[in-house]
Amino acid sequence: MTDILGHHAARTTLTQALARDRVHHAYLFTGPDGVGKRRMAYAFIARVFCTAPAADGDACGQCRACRRVFETPAWYDERAPFLAKDDAPELAPRHPDVLTLVAHGAFIKIEQVREVLRVVQFQPVEAPFRFVVIDEAHVMNDPAANALLKTLEEPPSRTRFILISNMPSNLLVTIRSRCQRVPFSRLSDADIAQILSQRGAVSDLLQDAVALAEGSARLAISLLDDPLATQWPPLAERLLTADTPRGIHELAATLGELERPDAVFDRIARLMRDALLLRTGVAARLFHASLRPQLEAWALAHPTEAILHRIDLVEDTRLNARTYNLQPRLSFERLLLALCAPAGAELARPLFVRRDVL
Ligand SMILES: [Zn+2]
Repeated sequence: MTDILGHHAARTTLTQALARDRVHHAYLFTGPDGVGKRRMAYAFIARVFCTAPAADGDACGQCRACRRVFETPAWYDERAPFLAKDDAPELAPRHPDVLTLVAHGAFIKIEQVREVLRVVQFQPVEAPFRFVVIDEAHVMNDPAANALLKTLEEPPSRTRFILISNMPSNLLVTIRSRCQRVPFSRLSDADIAQILSQRGAVSDLLQDAVALAEGSARLAISLLDDPLATQWPPLAERLLTADTPRGIHELAATLGELERPDAVFDRIARLMRDALLLRTGVAARLFHASLRPQLEAWALAHPTEAILHRIDLVEDTRLNARTYNLQPRLSFERLLLALCAPAGAELARPLFVRRDVL
């Protein structure tokens, strides 16, 4: 648990429970996606199961019990820490005393909960407790939730539950009230930067990914692994400096060839938002910190009204492209012609895409 960044309050709650030998029968880990709730859950279980704990009481990570706990969920793997849930086993078998329940399709269904309840009637195989981890617990459908509730009301003596959810308000109130809540918050920029630099991120990309991730390690890692992370900064710079129809046309063609147009619209919107912040002097973190000088020059040449107008244009064009399944290159061309027009020109000849004529 000590190798998990941030979350000091959560760690303290859990270690104190262990120190006092009062592990609650059900915990509810809540907080945003991608901040480490699952990692903490399995690290906690390893700490309970470890047969050769470190001097500070933490799991050794090496003994047979630890290895099997950490191997249990595919997403704990450092090389692929956050596989899609469909890749995770429904009931993870590696450690016989850890059951992991994830959505089957859109929901966690009653058959899955019944299977868990059948198993927990028996004593744990080898560990002091059996742990049942219910990932995205809010996707339990009503019959599943009601079946679980009955068990939480009369918990089996040596079974402990860890429910994980980023939307705890979607859980039955009666389930929530049976669990001890352990809140997780967003990670700090410094923590995210450390996670990314451990993965070999270079400084400019790291800085941008930290700003975009807003405290989610999973999002930061996926941003970094996204080819757009390296492709985008030079394209953004071209966008800020394009001033000839030919340059605009070529840039639109390049953007049109990128894999996910929606992600490109996102980046353009964030670029305009950065310009707006600089123009209005709002001291907030930029998504494109590495392009600050170019952004400042661009913002200086555009009044606030003109930037707001361009932000609307990005969203309008994105909506049109989606609704009418337009060719990305044509959408980007139209958008860039408007974005790169001299400030003031857009008011004389608005380039809004009219939805009724498409
Ligand atoms: Zn161990």
